[in-house]
Amino acid sequence: MLGRPTGFDLRLLPGGASAASLPAMHPENFTRRTPEGEDRERLVCGDCGFVAYENPKIVVGSVVAEDGRILLCRRAIEPRRGYWTLPAGYMELGETVEEGARRGAWEEARARLELDGVLAIYSIARIGQVQIIYRARLA
Ligand SMILES: [Zn+2]
Repeated sequence: MLGRPTGFDLRLLPGGASAASLPAMHPENFTRRTPEGEDRERLVCGDCGFVAYENPKIVVGSVVAEDGRILLCRRAIEPRRGYWTLPAGYMELGETVEEGARRGAWEEARARLELDGVLAIYSIARIGQVQIIYRARLA
């Protein structure tokens, strides 16, 4: 069995394109099929054979405790606009999980955090997310 690493053979990519841009280059030619050596359907470019892997998104957030209180953010956007939630968000490429946790709290609450370690990791397979939640204090 070939296994997944062959999907990352960058020699297959035309013109030095990044993996993220390929579906945009050949949008009409991506179909779902099972590549040779794999056990499930993938999005495959009919022109160059590029496999656009779809993997869980990583959400990183924090439970920020201060003087017996917990920092909550009120959502300003859908989904669940108006609901209270922990400061959290999708990780960006090029940042660490810790940087993502601190960025999320800064963007959503203008809070600078001191992280005290991982509180919980949730695998939410039905929506394709892995959520990593830190225990934190205001810095
Ligand atoms: Zn292609």
